[in-house]
Amino acid sequence: MLVAVPKEIKNHEYRVGLTPDSVREFVAHKHEVLVESGAGEGIGCSDDAYEACGARIAASTEELYRTADLIIKVKEPQPEERRRLREGQILFAYLHLAPDATQTRELLRSKAVCIAYETVTGPNNQLPLLTPMSQVAGRMSIQAGAYCLERVHGGSGMLLGGVPGVPPARVVVIGGGVVGQNAIAMALGMGAEVVVLDRDLEVLRRLAYHFGPALTTVYSTRTALEQYVLQAELIIGAVLIAGAETPKLVTAETVRRLKPGTVLVDVAIDQGGCFETSRPTTHADPTYIVDGVVHYCVTNMPGAVPRTSTFALNNAILPYALAIADKGYRQAMLDDPHLRQGLNIHQGAVTHRAVAEEHSHPF
Ligand code: NAD
Repeated sequence: MLVAVPKEIKNHEYRVGLTPDSVREFVAHKHEVLVESGAGEGIGCSDDAYEACGARIAASTEELYRTADLIIKVKEPQPEERRRLREGQILFAYLHLAPDATQTRELLRSKAVCIAYETVTGPNNQLPLLTPMSQVAGRMSIQAGAYCLERVHGGSGMLLGGVPGVPPARVVVIGGGVVGQNAIAMALGMGAEVVVLDRDLEVLRRLAYHFGPALTTVYSTRTALEQYVLQAELIIGAVLIAGAETPKLVTAETVRRLKPGTVLVDVAIDQGGCFETSRPTTHADPTYIVDGVVHYCVTNMPGAVPRTSTFALNNAILPYALAIADKGYRQAMLDDPHLRQGLNIHQGAVTHRAVAEEHSHPF
């Protein structure tokens, strides 16, 4: 198969579909790989690095889209990329079609085969191609929170880990899933005092077993939440209710009662956020202050660390992408029902129930 990796053109997107190491795997599987010039610039990988792994650098974007059988990207195709897609061409990328009627319509028109990372499933309701980005965001949340706690950034001026003789900061993590677990690991690693609240007892059991007595686990009720957030210096919002908007677990009234200089990092902001005072921000202007409380609400946190994010994403997508290239998408999906869940659009038809229902399209 001819596998193609375009340079991402979405504003401030520095990740790339394949790393040079992944290219080498495709080449070893006897595929041809075409990479757009400069595609790896944002992760510090030159055209030479791709060529050294067996890729050919495309003469133009036009050649890449005209000749590719399988296009591997990170973000959903932008309007000019959608116009280039051809009938029967396979697109493997994050698509997020449910809230995007225009993209859905244009992908249908292209008659391409569109497989979305975010709907590929795993055992136990996992979403294996979303997990790496949650890991990155969870780890980043503590880094961002520690920075915001500095006095010049509006924080209370506390060092997360304290020093001998001075107590550490108290970190409260709301939601102990993938984001939460990664935030906990970083916060404990930096010497903070950490409490996690979740309403799934199995999650709390797993975390207690994993982190031991260094971590305090608390069943999430309104009373417990209020009690712990009022004592915290840093609060991480890491809640998810699959398929629904995040509940506002911390009200504006509670935010008013937090200590001045408390920092809120609302990782769940991409699903609406779990603090009533949250509103989406960008890496260019990541924070704002409400009632003396610093809010960090960046919707695409992994975008700030494109190198780590791209390598993490590649580790997760590689087996699926190789299966598509080796067997063809039909056989790969017959063999793997989890990959089949990723098929959102197939040659002019919506093939994912949630996307179809959102756009009132026949399924
Ligand atoms: P997850 O499903 O692994 O974990 C969510 C956890 O929230 C679960 O353990 C669940 O039991 C818990 N929960 C649900 N209701 C709760 C309540 N009332 N109180 C306490 N806990 C509750 O999800 P995840 O992968 O960790 O993602 C968490 C959020 O982070 C999602 O909204 C996701 O979209 C978001 N996210 C944002 C970014 C970003 O860049 N901002 C990046 C990755 C993920």
